[in-house]
Amino acid sequence: MSQIPEHVVVVGAGLGGLRTVEALRTRGHVGRITLVGAEVHAPYDRPPLSKQILSGTWEPAKATFRDEEALAALDVTMVFGKRAVGLDGTTVALEDGTSITGDAVVLATGVTARTLPGQPAGVVTLRTLDDAIALRGAFDSLSSLLIVGAGFIGAEVAWAAHSKGVRVTVLEALPVPVERALGRQVGALAGRLFTEAGIDLRCDTRITRFVDERTVELSDGSTLAADLVLVGIGSLPDVGWLDGAGLDTTDGVACDADGRVRGASGVWAVGDIAAWWDESRGRFHRNEHWTTTVDQTQVVAAGILGEEPPAPAVPYVWSDQFGMKIQTFGRTDLADEIAQLHGTGLAGGPVKGTVVGYFAAGVLVGAVGFGAPAKLVRYRAMIADGASRETVLAQSDASAAVGG
Ligand SMILES: Cc1cc2nc3c(=O)[nH]c(=O)nc-3n(C[C@H](O)[C@H](O)[C@H](O)COP(=O)(O)OP(=O)(O)OC[C@H]3O[C@@H](n4cnc5c(N)ncnc54)[C@H](O)[C@@H]3O)c2cc1C
Repeated sequence: MSQIPEHVVVVGAGLGGLRTVEALRTRGHVGRITLVGAEVHAPYDRPPLSKQILSGTWEPAKATFRDEEALAALDVTMVFGKRAVGLDGTTVALEDGTSITGDAVVLATGVTARTLPGQPAGVVTLRTLDDAIALRGAFDSLSSLLIVGAGFIGAEVAWAAHSKGVRVTVLEALPVPVERALGRQVGALAGRLFTEAGIDLRCDTRITRFVDERTVELSDGSTLAADLVLVGIGSLPDVGWLDGAGLDTTDGVACDADGRVRGASGVWAVGDIAAWWDESRGRFHRNEHWTTTVDQTQVVAAGILGEEPPAPAVPYVWSDQFGMKIQTFGRTDLADEIAQLHGTGLAGGPVKGTVVGYFAAGVLVGAVGFGAPAKLVRYRAMIADGASRETVLAQSDASAAVGG
């Protein structure tokens, strides 16, 4: 008997869920597929929520991945507007009391926005299409916005609101934005984007409590108020529904390096929820990035069908903010040293055009570019090849390393 599953149940109808379905069909799977999604919307894309939808350059419908005809052509049973509430083997229980049993199950339920203790209901977050539509509508009547968190989503919302004439204040608990991902010096560059745009960025600033839905108290005892408060402090894997399934959900769903869920047979996971084993880090690692999610769906579809998976891709993430694209290749968090490869941002020059290389033990492990896509892209192959610092610097406009 063939080991290839006949019926694949995909739970979570976002980027990872839809792309898994499409990858299965593209690879020739003719068996049944069921796609379960908690939201009533057809699968839609999230990066435009904090970019084109907020800025108003796209109508919300444009974020929908596929029209009705394209979805129908996938020949998939779609169960939208129903949340999965349990997993037992390869049987998925739904909130309406029904269940669906597959020969294989793919978990793709993503993450939910993290909130602060005591966060009032009127304080908003941005994760879903409905969140984005509500926030965009609110922009028209706002004169001030307080954003908690200067990560990529905080920065994108700050830029969209600022561009619409809203007075924006951003609070960041760390000394610089995105320090965990990009380090102190490059984080300071990201911080300059806020301040040079005229946004009030306050780093090293913690909230002790919400006075009400428009007012926060800071650790120095002062209070800050705005017409609207948005919390953008990261996210939490949507694993609550897997309680009782016997899986390791310490930080997302622990998986082998090919997306097979540890401790389960016939169960796979992709996307923001999935903590795949990462040999270079020596631990499970979750990416919350678009391109990694898509790459994982190809690996999982190949695995389900018993095919050779594609070679691992160099991780990639981008953010559009302050009129430029910030792009990162590789695993910047592994670096013990950085070097400015192009531009002069780290020396106090313009942020735009700066490219920074990240090295671990003298080998290129990552690179970030600020509004410099053409210069940055050459480093992707060098990261894949593990190019030495000397080789990388020889390709760059710089020769002096900046300690990281
Ligand atoms: C505002 C925003 C901007 C972003 N911008 C960028 C960017 O610029 N660059 C980048 O690389 N990445 C970006 N991302 C991240 C990127 O969108 C995610 O990495 C990607 O969507 C992950 O896909 P996923 O399928 O894992 O999760 P999602 O796309 O979030 O899909 C998960 C789906 O599962 C559903 N679900 C959850 N629980 C259940 C359940 N129990 N039962 C059934 N369904 C369930 C959810 O409703 C959701 O529809 C952004 C994310 C957001 C929110």
